[in-house]
Amino acid sequence: MQLYNSLSHKKEEFVPREPGKVSMYTCGPTVYHYAHIGNLRSYIMEDVLEKYLRFTGLDVKRVMNITDVGHLTSDGDTGDDKMLKGAKREHKTVMEIAKFYTDAFFDDCKKLNIKTPDVVVPATTYIDEFIRVISSLMDKGYAYEAGGNIYFDTSKLDKYYVFNDFKEEDLAVGVREGVEEDGNKRNKADFVLWFTKSKFDDQELKWESPWGVGYPGWHIECSCISMKNLGEYLDIHCGGIDNAFPHHTNEIAQSEAYLGHKWCNYWFHVLHLNTNSGKMSKSSGEFLTVSLLEEKGYLPVVYRFFCLQSHYRKSLVFTWENLDNAKTTYEKLIAKIAPLTADKSGEIDKSEYDRLMGSFNDAMGNDINTAMAVTVVYDVLKSSANAATKLALLGEFDKVLGLDLIANAEKAAADTGSNSADIPAEVMELVEQRKAARKDKNFALADELRDKIAALGYEVKETRQGTEINKI
Ligand code: AMP
Ligand code: ZN
Repeated sequence: MQLYNSLSHKKEEFVPREPGKVSMYTCGPTVYHYAHIGNLRSYIMEDVLEKYLRFTGLDVKRVMNITDVGHLTSDGDTGDDKMLKGAKREHKTVMEIAKFYTDAFFDDCKKLNIKTPDVVVPATTYIDEFIRVISSLMDKGYAYEAGGNIYFDTSKLDKYYVFNDFKEEDLAVGVREGVEEDGNKRNKADFVLWFTKSKFDDQELKWESPWGVGYPGWHIECSCISMKNLGEYLDIHCGGIDNAFPHHTNEIAQSEAYLGHKWCNYWFHVLHLNTNSGKMSKSSGEFLTVSLLEEKGYLPVVYRFFCLQSHYRKSLVFTWENLDNAKTTYEKLIAKIAPLTADKSGEIDKSEYDRLMGSFNDAMGNDINTAMAVTVVYDVLKSSANAATKLALLGEFDKVLGLDLIANAEKAAADTGSNSADIPAEVMELVEQRKAARKDKNFALADELRDKIAALGYEVKETRQGTEINKI
């Protein structure tokens, strides 16, 4: 399998360190608000990667942190403690906010068929571990105390900017966001491992440490949680592209300084979901949630489908029109699959099965090309294989795509009534399209489809029991 690696800036053959096993780490959400659908684009594409690795027979262990300690994230650095801001907004404690939005995040994931990672660690449960690793970095000479805080000394590294070639001069003119201005630092790129001098007067969560009462920096969370659960070597680290710098850059700096060797082999970064006015971000306050999509009548899997239609290394523009297109396409797809579910008998056509499975693996094995994999779904439907073969293939593909293809097709077929088995597939497809059109209140299209159905010799009627189809 070919996978693009942000470290080498090219596609590479993916080879796990231990044959048959993959260790995978994902930066989890900052739980001060609902995840927006931009965040969820990253989690959907990371989920597809995980599912495909499993599909190829690899044994994946995936770990995720939950950022519940207040600090600045790279998401529109506003200079506020996001957790505290969330708590104030809702008149709750930071821990209450964290619990509420952690649950909300996993609810959204469930709706989008995103698997919960094998291990999920809230940062606040790992304070002792952070202190242990920071102490070791101090002992090794990679960290220093200044103005009450503990900093990582980036000048001790041979190469700090591992993902890009930014230089100190670039930082000086403020080209990069995310590097904090702080007079105590020895070098511009140094970052805080442990704060005792809070930027926030009313910092709520604080812990004892050898350097005084304080709280950990953001980056140390992920390094420690990964190393503790996945060991000294990591196969794949995932995150949205905004995390590459400074967050992932700092994770590498401190992990490799601590370990004394290379830490993670492959870096998988998902490009952003943008709106017409720029990147969707939590801090801007204007963001779309899964619940909002549901309120507007979209199935969450339609959003997943929308994401899968594009490659994860291209930025994706969200507009309602684009989502509507994805919805119509998804409904038509389900309408094509629905008639197949009535007839599952028949032997699998081995040569067609292997050919189409080969195309699916070619697509997914080419740097998780989900857009291409979706076209293979259509190739299956167009193929001359029997219904049993088509259903078997679609069922397998959906283990990776997670689009509820068979379940929603069965639902659509059941809504259409029990006599559908005897009706030609071509008619059934039009019936399903008509149902979707009626649901969208597009009655002109529904009428047009009824006429097309009539031209094929069938009459379609809505009854209390559902859709009835009769031969004219
Ligand atoms: P956060 O909750 O801000 O820590 O972000 C959670 C994840 O969402 C991280 O992997 C971010 O890189 C990612 N992310 C943030 N904004 C976007 C966006 N507009 N599109 C895609 N991913 C994003
Ligand atoms: Zn992280």
